[in-house]
Amino acid sequence: MLTAIVGINWGDEGKGRMVDLLSREQDVIVRYQGGNNAGHTVCNERGKFVLNLLPSGILRPDKVNVMGCGMVIDAEHLFKETGRLRAAGVSITPDNLVISDRAVICFPYNVMQDCLEEDRLADKKFGSTRRGIAPIYADKYMKKAIRMGDLTDPAYLDERIETVLDWKNLCLSAYKGARKFTPAEIKKWLEDYAMPFVPYIKDAGAMLYAAAAEGKRIMLEAQLGALRDIDYGIYPYTSSSNTIAAYAPVGAGVPGLKVDRTIGVMKAYSTCVGEGPFTAEMFGEEAERLREAGGEYGAATGRPRRVGGFDAVASRYGCRVQGADTIALTKLDILDYMDEIPVVDAYEIDGELTEDFPFGERLVKARPHIVRLPGWKQSTANCRTFGDLPAAARDYVRYIERSVGTEIGYVSVGAERDSIITM
Ligand code: GDP
Repeated sequence: MLTAIVGINWGDEGKGRMVDLLSREQDVIVRYQGGNNAGHTVCNERGKFVLNLLPSGILRPDKVNVMGCGMVIDAEHLFKETGRLRAAGVSITPDNLVISDRAVICFPYNVMQDCLEEDRLADKKFGSTRRGIAPIYADKYMKKAIRMGDLTDPAYLDERIETVLDWKNLCLSAYKGARKFTPAEIKKWLEDYAMPFVPYIKDAGAMLYAAAAEGKRIMLEAQLGALRDIDYGIYPYTSSSNTIAAYAPVGAGVPGLKVDRTIGVMKAYSTCVGEGPFTAEMFGEEAERLREAGGEYGAATGRPRRVGGFDAVASRYGCRVQGADTIALTKLDILDYMDEIPVVDAYEIDGELTEDFPFGERLVKARPHIVRLPGWKQSTANCRTFGDLPAAARDYVRYIERSVGTEIGYVSVGAERDSIITM
């Protein structure tokens, strides 16, 4: 049984929190795309954890976690992230963590290239997290990447480092302020940060097919949301990989299996980190208040997030590209303070209203058509059933459900594991 858990919006929907909760019923948790350019924040009885690379199931001792072949792995970051978690008492061994031999390694030269390119773009920058993600995915498709499995074959690895660096140094030389990387330096970096993970590197696909055949429950976890998908998102302000559920079996290592259930995580309001069109964006004091209430600062970078009301146009599109079967609506409690809840129910483009999510320049031109729904002005943090919610909050949830045309299965009213309403 394969369950995909994915983001409906621009990322930061609270996927980590939902995976942490729902992983209780799962046997294996797989991250299928992305690198350390985003973070999942998970709060449980052991404290607050930010996970950038590790699957969120790592915090449950009896789960197997897989870093799938669709990922790009900065070994230095992984080394430090595992170190931090171990220091907090989390056990990470080859028994509970498997790294796909096909996953690609993100190197310091990718990080440098990312920074140099953002600097070169200056005011036209994309808002990259500067973690090397776009350059390493580009390397992968140029067939100039080195994969985790290559670490187990020293002669081949040496050959690959020579070949890749020859080319990469040539690319970097076009940038002012770049420097060359030597094979010795890259080998030392691998020795320090990547080689300790050799015991974890396996044919993750074979393991997952076997687990599925035994009837194990496998959860496929996305990083970032539908609107950051390289093909279906707000290109070029997207991530560099497919974040959507249809890609989940491919990026996990089981392309021959189908996803049985897709849970879309959707926020009760909108947030967006970095550049790009964000139609629902609020400004001034109204925005500041929501940002503060929601603690909307990037988990990976600490950057203040752009905020806005719930965007029915973008969210309906997100549900469709994800093929979401059910929705987990998060952070409803953050809206407790509002007199009225702003919702974008349509976009206005060149004087016309549309409910369809537009392509390219039309999206840039879109202005929000806002309706204001009644607020409830009381705490929802202790609500544990739908009936516990104030009437206006129930109406808000039902309004959202109708506007995206997808059933809401969970409503989250707090960051803690049990702050959840199951519908
Ligand atoms: P992710 O990348 O999708 O996991 O998103 P983030 O790491 O940005 O997580 C969202 C943040 O909101 C985290 O700090 C969570 O602990 C927190 N959070 C998640 N769900 C809720 C909720 O329903 N209410 C509140 N108050 N906080 C939540």
